[in-house]
Amino acid sequence: MTINQIHQKLLNKQISALELAQDYLSRIKKINPELNAFITVTEKEAIEQAKNADNIIAQGQELPILAGIPASIKDVIMTKGVKTTAGSKILENYIAPYDATAVKKLKEQGLVMLGKNNCDEFAMGSSGENSAYGAIKNPYDKERVPGGSSGGSAAAVAADLSVYSLGSDTGGSIRQPAAFCGVVGLKPTYGAVSRFGLIAMASSFDQIGVIGKSVEDVEIVFNVIKGKDELDATSVEIRSGIKSESPLRFENQKSEILNKFKIQNSKFKNLRIGVPKEYFVKGMNKEVESVVKNVIKKAEELGAEVAEVSLPHTEYALAVYYIIMPSEVSANLARYDGIRYGESVISHQTSGVGLIDVYKKTRAKFLGDEVKRRIMLGTYTLSAGYYEAYYKKAQQVRTLIRQDFERVFNQGKVDMLITPTTPTPAFKLGEKTADPLTMYLEDVFTVPINVAGVPALSIPAGKSKDGLPIGVQLVGKWFEEEVLFRVGDVLEKVFSSTHF
Ligand code: GLN
Repeated sequence: MTINQIHQKLLNKQISALELAQDYLSRIKKINPELNAFITVTEKEAIEQAKNADNIIAQGQELPILAGIPASIKDVIMTKGVKTTAGSKILENYIAPYDATAVKKLKEQGLVMLGKNNCDEFAMGSSGENSAYGAIKNPYDKERVPGGSSGGSAAAVAADLSVYSLGSDTGGSIRQPAAFCGVVGLKPTYGAVSRFGLIAMASSFDQIGVIGKSVEDVEIVFNVIKGKDELDATSVEIRSGIKSESPLRFENQKSEILNKFKIQNSKFKNLRIGVPKEYFVKGMNKEVESVVKNVIKKAEELGAEVAEVSLPHTEYALAVYYIIMPSEVSANLARYDGIRYGESVISHQTSGVGLIDVYKKTRAKFLGDEVKRRIMLGTYTLSAGYYEAYYKKAQQVRTLIRQDFERVFNQGKVDMLITPTTPTPAFKLGEKTADPLTMYLEDVFTVPINVAGVPALSIPAGKSKDGLPIGVQLVGKWFEEEVLFRVGDVLEKVFSSTHF
């Protein structure tokens, strides 16, 4: 059921929020041991929050759209009073002392939190295998990965263990698992959603976003969590002057865009879609290529104007990301030293061991290999003598990549782009763990989006001959998530027969 369908059923008293929460909790008990999509299940909170929603209904008060809807939160996002591990042993017993702003906003709308989703350690990974709490499985094929790093979120939504999940996306972590699990994933514009309470990986790329079963569900949740937050200086109000998120505003906004692109009876008018040629290369996976080309053809049949465009610096995006990201990681993760944050091997006060030793031993013991690899790489790229050659150079190329997008959107006059989300459908567990570079190549289509800071939505659009989902990525202008929702909504319905 979609959020709106559940909302109606709650209002009509066909189901109660409590029954619904109990249903999901028992599904989690039954199915999660196979998938490992949750690190923590918050049964007590869920029941209590569901009862609150039922009280609102019983008293005849206005029911917020998300009230009573069972959801889950990736374990890199702070949830007050609940264990928040970031998929790492170093935070195994860490209880978040406050809520992330996005979670706070969901709670104000009546969130029913089922639990915390498993993920790659500190959101570093593309397969869900880097979690200290065990690999996550793809619900379509349990020998395959669900993608990463928000693999638990995508697997949970695909397997109906939660209606939607908050994830985070630094280089593809929402869109890639959404594509692998046949669900919808949104990476908002950098700054659209507050990062306050998101455990930082690479702060200039990180964004909180949504994984859901439909474009409409993702849009509803995004409209609740977006907006300026005093606690995150990089956050902005998408439309100035409007603060509260009434359903009315949601409807109004919708019709504005519907008017602009004249989307009537699922037909597009005045909509220009760019197809960046750098995303369609010789030797690419044939099934992915045919699914994406099919979507483009369909959009054209529905009235969109399609133009080939060029983002010439695309080939450098992965290299730029894998220099700047570890640099930021090395700074952000310095706080997990066994003193300020995290498990500690020894107490330097009682054992008489030096402070530096406490740091070293704690980090050696409780951080995983991929996290250590990135800290080391980032420390190197920021060190004297190498800073100019690597970090500074990468920042300069980052500007060129952003300008590519400015050029196609402003001079090329396209309203959005269509690309594949991933180079292949979900791969086998263990297939890429031995070679980090092969794993990094998974991010080739998603990373440029974070480098430029634009929004992107992955929607399921087909299946491979093995029955594995394949996603397409709709990329928008800065802060024009709305266009992606409207177009995604139409396309999703066309391809809905391919849904889980
Ligand atoms: N897979 C990418 C990485 O390992 C992206 C991760 C993310 O978006 N958090 O860095």
